[in-house]
Amino acid sequence: MSASHKRSSLDRDTTFYAPKVACFACYDSGIVSNGDGLLNDYLTDYDATVIDGVLHRHGGSDLAIICHCTAAYEAQDFESQTTRAGFRDSSGVKSTDINGRQQAIGVDPDKDMIREIHRKRRDLWQRSAKDLNSLRQQVRAGMNPQLPHYIATVKQQLQSVDQLLPSFE
Ligand SMILES: [Zn+2]
Repeated sequence: MSASHKRSSLDRDTTFYAPKVACFACYDSGIVSNGDGLLNDYLTDYDATVIDGVLHRHGGSDLAIICHCTAAYEAQDFESQTTRAGFRDSSGVKSTDINGRQQAIGVDPDKDMIREIHRKRRDLWQRSAKDLNSLRQQVRAGMNPQLPHYIATVKQQLQSVDQLLPSFE
């Protein structure tokens, strides 16, 4: 059969799906993500500095936080070829040689904190999926539904996006 350029029916459907991952703390990458800032509920100054009580985020400025799920470990395929190097082994977070000094490649966070981030984020995604699917249904039915605050806020921010970006003139 030749390759088709037509999308699958799942791809064409307008249902909003939460990411299909096993671990919402790291989205199956092995490194705990902080795109939504949830990590700062636990580690206030992670990838950030607090100046006069205001959080200024600088993504990537701190060490990676290594997840506790299987995605953080080495993976092999059926021929015992390593398909993922992994950030942990049985002794803990791996380290690397930096100018002759061993340094851990990331930090080993509290397990309960990671479990809680996973559960919170999973629940938030489920709620978002429910909200968005209900909105889409209403729009399809010809209604003009009120946007949830988090969508309304982003929509408003995008209207002034030209002021956020530097001018090249
Ligand atoms: Zn994980």
